[in-house]
Amino acid sequence: MSESIGFIGLGIMGRGMAHNLLKAGFALRVWNRTAARMEPLVAAGASADRSPADVAAHSDVIITCVSDTPDVQAVILGDSGVIHGARPGALIIDMSTISPQATREMAQQLAGKGIHMLDAPVSGGSEGAAKGTLSIMTGGEADQFERAMPVFQAMGKAITHVGGHGDGQTVKLVNQVLVVVTMLAVGEGLLFARAGGLDLGKTLAAVSQGAAGSWMLSNRGPQVVERDWRPGFTIDLQQKDLRLVLEAADQMGIPLLATSLVFQLYRTLQQRGLGSEGNHALVKALENLSGLEIKS
Ligand code: NAP
Repeated sequence: MSESIGFIGLGIMGRGMAHNLLKAGFALRVWNRTAARMEPLVAAGASADRSPADVAAHSDVIITCVSDTPDVQAVILGDSGVIHGARPGALIIDMSTISPQATREMAQQLAGKGIHMLDAPVSGGSEGAAKGTLSIMTGGEADQFERAMPVFQAMGKAITHVGGHGDGQTVKLVNQVLVVVTMLAVGEGLLFARAGGLDLGKTLAAVSQGAAGSWMLSNRGPQVVERDWRPGFTIDLQQKDLRLVLEAADQMGIPLLATSLVFQLYRTLQQRGLGSEGNHALVKALENLSGLEIKS
């Protein structure tokens, strides 16, 4: 018989992931701070609980997918947190994107109570969450990763075990460095093309398949040219992740020059009230510096 699952945090990501667990046949209990968000899951067959501790008391595996480090700490370690309901041997899988260091500290505290933990942040956005095609980067003990595999398979496609506690979070932050620095390059390239009087569509077609090709260039480049700022991932969430990157880099004592620059450029956009636009709106900061608009 498959393990019973508890799911905490039914936001943009969590609701799709929870639906996919139900579709895969898992018995599911849910909790969300804003109770109304549990209704669609209950209608689909889940049971609603009154607190994270309550969810944990009835589940073998407890998944958390909430916003930021203090939020994960609240639902796991807080007054009515998972730690107060989970049985020894239970497994907590945190699928939020949070601090690697805080993750290691939580895993250690939970281990003292005989509770296992994996960090398993995701990429693939709300679309990947809904379709069950997320990339899942996992840190923690290998036997717990094997235990979680059927659960992961209901939610994702590229499922990797990358190392010990916190390493899943660190890999997720590597992903974020690559995404934003690539987006900076896409923006600079398009600005240069515009200043040179080029046809931007033809420019993208010419360079997308060569050595400069990337997912950001192929998917976000055309969106920039069409001036379509709808978010796959918002500037505000991107900034949260870059703050986590820069905090971790500071703890490790390494300089991240391009990532720091992008963080400051996004800050100028947040100050202009653009935090809910897609992360490719980074080009607006470059446009502001150059006085040129990227359009065909
Ligand atoms: P979201 O739509 O804003 O949902 C956040 C969820 O966390 C909500 O269920 C919210 O409850 C809950 N929450 C926040 N603070 C809480 C607290 N202190 N106590 C209890 N519950 C709390 O965010 P999301 O897009 O689903 O993102 C969730 C996580 O996935 C984040 O770490 C994010 O970085 C990561 N992620 C997101 C994406 C994406 O494309 N959106 C992609 C990859 C990874 P309420 O309903 O009560 O507000």
